[in-house]
Amino acid sequence: SKVLLTGGTGFIASHILDHLLECGFDIVVTARSQAKGERIIASIANSPNVVNSVGCKVTYAVVEDIAEDGAFDEVIKTNLPLHYCIHTASPCQFSFSDPVNDCLLPAINGTVSLLSSLQEHASSSLLRAVLTSSSAAILNPPNHRPVYDESSWPDDETLNWDQAADPNAPGDTTYRASKKFAEQAAWEFMEENELSWDLATINNTYTFGPLPRSLDVKNAGELKVNTSNERIADCLTGKWCQVIPRTAPVFTFVDVRDVAVAHVRAMTRPEAGGKRFYVVGGFFSNAKIAGVVHGLCRAKQHQHQQGSEVENKGEEVEMCQDCVKFDDFPENHWKFDNARSKEVLELECRSLEESV
Ligand code: NDP
Repeated sequence: SKVLLTGGTGFIASHILDHLLECGFDIVVTARSQAKGERIIASIANSPNVVNSVGCKVTYAVVEDIAEDGAFDEVIKTNLPLHYCIHTASPCQFSFSDPVNDCLLPAINGTVSLLSSLQEHASSSLLRAVLTSSSAAILNPPNHRPVYDESSWPDDETLNWDQAADPNAPGDTTYRASKKFAEQAAWEFMEENELSWDLATINNTYTFGPLPRSLDVKNAGELKVNTSNERIADCLTGKWCQVIPRTAPVFTFVDVRDVAVAHVRAMTRPEAGGKRFYVVGGFFSNAKIAGVVHGLCRAKQHQHQQGSEVENKGEEVEMCQDCVKFDDFPENHWKFDNARSKEVLELECRSLEESV
């Protein structure tokens, strides 16, 4: 079967691509330029799944501006029959000079124009589209609900167009609104049209984890990590030595490898159709991340002293007295219910220790 994967240069998409390859799919990825497309292909040249599996193919197509009407027409028409689509491409940063054109329109129009093109050109073969939405389309900060699940959306008073489109809006408000509106627009499209295929959304939360190829693919070797991993890089490169920046009292994370598996299972499992999936591994704060790094350093030091070079996988780390001060969670914070991801997708998420 053939999968169209948009935003192939991305952090999350690179893991989805790996997992699709492992599962033996043919894949066409989109990138914003030929150079980026070539870098994606070069990055998987040595993947055992590409070299060894008979007939497993990866190609790329250039889609320069996802906000343009019909942006995906060409790639879809030239890759028929297409069976699945995973749409990850969307601005994922917290600073925009032009919130509407740099973030809201690419997110919303990019999603709707993709779904329209799929219907127009690929409906005879297409089985499902999976949209990478976000927990931003679930949570309602700062007025948190006691428990969140897939029935939750941010209130319009808390997150609306006027706030998000304001040139002085905080970047994270614009970003969160782009995810809410893009997902709403996707479900509206599905409701308003008679379709022979369905939609699932992955509402993953703050995503940490390894950067397999995305540094090279995205930035041609420049050392800049993706937005959600920046805080881990900041911690490791000593930016928190004096002061650990405060996060919201609690926040949730998930490991990118679990997010990739969630996408592919949501794509192929019949019972996943028509559903949102809240994909979340657990809670974190910057202080907790610092605590994990502190624990890992202690364990490494201990191994060094013992002269052993055992690989440390995080879960073996013993916390010390000092680690207590990294535990800054308030007692009665909000909770999440990710039972649907566990039941339908059979997702067992990695711990913060392993992810960091
Ligand atoms: P990345 O920034 O690594 O990837 C974003 C991808 O979208 C890149 O391929 C990028 O292309 C592409 N893109 C961004 N803006 C545009 C645009 N205007 N036109 C075309 N392509 C564009 O981020 P992630 O991998 O983390 O994010 C992927 C998806 O996951 C996004 O939809 C994001 O909202 C969602 N998500 C991410 C979370 C996280 O914590 N990381 C949490 C929840 C959801 P290019 O490389 O050329 O810039």
